[in-house]
Amino acid sequence: MKRQTISNLQYRPLILKKAVLLFLIAVLGVGCQRTLKKPDITSIQKREEWKAGVASVVITPEQSMWLAGYAARTKPSDGKVHDLHAKAIALEDFQGARLIIVTVDLLGIPRSLRDWLEKEVTRCHKIPPAFLLLNASHTHSGPVLKEARDSIYGNSFYGLSPEQIQQSEQYTEALQEKLLQLIGQAINNLAPARLSYTHARAGFAMNRRSKTERGYQIGPNPDGPVDHDVPVLRVDNPDGGLRAVLFGYACHNTTLNFYKFCGDYAGFAQQYIEEAHPGITALFVIGCGGDQNPYPREEPRNLDYSMQHGRALANAVEAAIICNPRPVRGPIRAAIEQTMLEFAAPPSQEQLEQQKKSENKYERRHAEALLNELQQTGKIRTTYPYLIQVVGFGNDLTMVALAGEVVVDYSLRLKAELAGSPVWVAGYCNDVFGYVPSLRILNEGGYEGGGAMLYTPLPGPFAPSVEKQVVDKVHELVNKVQAPRSN
Ligand SMILES: [Zn+2]
Repeated sequence: MKRQTISNLQYRPLILKKAVLLFLIAVLGVGCQRTLKKPDITSIQKREEWKAGVASVVITPEQSMWLAGYAARTKPSDGKVHDLHAKAIALEDFQGARLIIVTVDLLGIPRSLRDWLEKEVTRCHKIPPAFLLLNASHTHSGPVLKEARDSIYGNSFYGLSPEQIQQSEQYTEALQEKLLQLIGQAINNLAPARLSYTHARAGFAMNRRSKTERGYQIGPNPDGPVDHDVPVLRVDNPDGGLRAVLFGYACHNTTLNFYKFCGDYAGFAQQYIEEAHPGITALFVIGCGGDQNPYPREEPRNLDYSMQHGRALANAVEAAIICNPRPVRGPIRAAIEQTMLEFAAPPSQEQLEQQKKSENKYERRHAEALLNELQQTGKIRTTYPYLIQVVGFGNDLTMVALAGEVVVDYSLRLKAELAGSPVWVAGYCNDVFGYVPSLRILNEGGYEGGGAMLYTPLPGPFAPSVEKQVVDKVHELVNKVQAPRSN
């Protein structure tokens, strides 16, 4: 019909044809401008509608327990500096999709705990696994959790007695139940809220890979790469009062090496923020701090330093929340997938037989474990099922949650490659099993490059494909969760 009308114009005088065309262009032009200039206000307002709920529970063991993190400890804990906590935040977008973030003042999250919890959360709350994010602060002043069933050390890495092993198993089982209840509580507390993103900086994390004549050793390296960003997700009541802050920092939580339960700098930072804003919940998410240490951290003043670093991080969060926050709108989209990271070729049986005679007990144990694996399964594993999770908050924020002790190169690279809306890269999420080096660090060697694998049941360093495999999978998941841009 329209086509017919336009073609009929060809027989009219030229001036009339031009006038009609100009009229049509004007009408269409105005029409387009109207579409661009007048966004759908109700849909934007809707996307700003959130519900948020927070909950917190003390997870300090009631009795003395072996402390996780350092192999060299010789006795169990003797008291506490402050309580360890597990905290959960539940967020519900305008479409009813729910995201749960759980943070714990513990060394790590075993994969078995993640698997159990995601199954229960799906069963009890109908929340799919991609919408459950777990992060451990990596404090080295928390209890040893039940080690993975396939631990080469048969639960005895720390040299625990059968009673101590039983104690850590009981603690872990009780912890699982506590976390499930905690999530239920956060969901029950869901109430209208506003979300915004802001950030600041803190400077106490320093690169800890120092080049020496004996290769890369752990020591302060002021010239090495760092990520001093302090990302903050701010949760406000609809009337403007602060309800919660979720904040991050890329640094090992290892100022302390004593025998008391303590959340280290991350525990102090949460404590100081909560003290400054009574009634709010502060949750800490550790970033890609695999090769970053808090400095200074020397004995005997390290408890003072830990509080100092906690104060520095709390200050950064305080600075961030007085900055102009950017509204975070929905919808929430999330994806979680595994990529099979490849290991370099394992040592041969002959090499392992040789290593079994080593004077170093960890080299000896590692060789014995790999020989056991070889005997029992006929081979040594060649891959690791590595979990990667990405959460998109509309187009306003993307959270990348990586498993393991991820080095800082990953957050610097991903933030550069995903530049646009803010990108928050967390490490130590969902499964803390060992270090994840970049290709640079793998090639340089040292502790994070592969040396630390000696303390895990894994065969040795990753293959050079490690960085590409992780980064490619992150991009794939980011593409999945990114919302189509409508304004
Ligand atoms: Zn570590």
